[in-house]
Order: sequence, then structure tokens, then C-alpha cells
Amino acid sequence: MRDAERGATVDHRLELNSGGAAGAESAIPQAAAWRRVLRHRLSHVWPRAASWWVPDLWIQLPRHVAPAGDRVAALTFDDGPTAAGTGRLLEVLARWNVPATFFLLGENIVRFPKEARAILDAGHAVGNHFRTHLDCWGAPRRAVVREVTEGGRIQEQVLGRIPPWCRPPYGRLTHTIVKWSRVHRQQIVLWDVFPPDSLEQTPPRTVEDMLLTRLRPRSIACLHDNEVSQERTPAALNSALPKLIDAGWRFVTLPPP
Ligand SMILES: [Zn+2]
Repeated sequence: MRDAERGATVDHRLELNSGGAAGAESAIPQAAAWRRVLRHRLSHVWPRAASWWVPDLWIQLPRHVAPAGDRVAALTFDDGPTAAGTGRLLEVLARWNVPATFFLLGENIVRFPKEARAILDAGHAVGNHFRTHLDCWGAPRRAVVREVTEGGRIQEQVLGRIPPWCRPPYGRLTHTIVKWSRVHRQQIVLWDVFPPDSLEQTPPRTVEDMLLTRLRPRSIACLHDNEVSQERTPAALNSALPKLIDAGWRFVTLPPP
């Protein structure tokens, strides 16, 4: 969600500076804000629909990870690494001794290699979130293949390994990605819990509440490590994690496919 959300930050500031601009000028940020909200709504229902289409897709942890009913879940963070957000997340996860999986963007690994290595050094796992956060719906087939391949290649160069999991930007699967993932033995991972942590207007409390109320045994929660989420998400986790651990929840990195 990175590019769109960065745009949102700019739009929001413009509106504030002009004291709530009227007319056509404010219609553009409003339309963009609505598009983001609709995209988030879609993100709640789309993974389940996609799992009917692609039965080997993960929207929850595979059954062998935990006996039915055990309070085991996985936290995942998309779009990083980032200059400020990654460190904050690592600090909170270390404080509560919770492992997680980070779906990294190739171009951000190139910008912030130290932060990318810090994720692995802290014992977390990393997956491929493609190279530039391209929206693959409507993109040419060759561009999609290049995005996912390059995302993995950059991880191999900088981190010394090609990750076994991939997650297309916005969760937008295409036939090309499904085919590519089977040929290259990459597990596609979406989610069943999607707190709105990269929507500008979301209070941290909403992210926390959603984690406390929506997690189910074997859930995979999709959170973010981007410019918009960088303060909200660590704050929400710092409050939610001790409550979840007290309630018997245990967190794991994604298992090998
Ligand atoms: Zn993303």
C-alpha cells in the first residue's frame, strides 16, 4: 500500500494547510481516500475468495503447525524495510519475545539493507513482496514476472537466500503469479486478519482491537511496515501483545512450505 499511502500523506497535508480546500481541488484527495477505504474493505474478503480459486494458497497457517483450537497465530508485516518503522517493530517484538514474518520489497531492501539484515538477525523470517509494489491486476504478464523474480533476486543478493514465501502487493493474485509460484516452489501467503494499520485516519486502538477480537487459531494477520503505519503499528502491538500472550496466544513465523 506504500505508494498510495505516501500520496495520502501529501494529500492530507494539502487539505490541512488550505484550511479544508473546497471545490475540485479537494475532490481529488477525497476520491483517493475513498479508493483507499474501498481497497481496505476488499482486503477483508478477497483472500477467502482467492483461496477458492487457488486451493493451495495460505490464508491461515497449515494444519500441521498446531492442533485444532490451539491459540497459535502468525504476524506478518508488509512493505518494509523502512528507516524508522522496522527498528520500532523489532523493538516491540523483542520486548514481548514474539517472532514474525516480514514481506519485504526489493527496492526497500536496496535502500535499507542494514534494516533488512536486522530482521533476520533478530530471528524473524522474510518473504518476497515483489520489487516495487506494482499492482499486478492489469499489469503486463512480463512486468509481473519481472517484479516477483527481481524481488527474490534482490533478497538473494543482499540477504543470501531466496525466500520460500511470496505475497503479491495488495494481495492481488493473477494467473501468472500462481503459475510462477508453482514452477519456482514459492508458497503464496495472504491473510485472514487485516487491521487497517496503513489507513491514515486509523487510531492505534482500532488496530489493537482488531487483533484482540479477530485472531482465530492459525490466523495469519497482515500488518505493515511503511511510512503510514510506522508509529501506529508498533504502538498497537505494544499494547495488544501482552494481552494476547496473557490470553494464551503464541506466535510463530511462517513454517517452511
Ligand atoms: Zn504491500
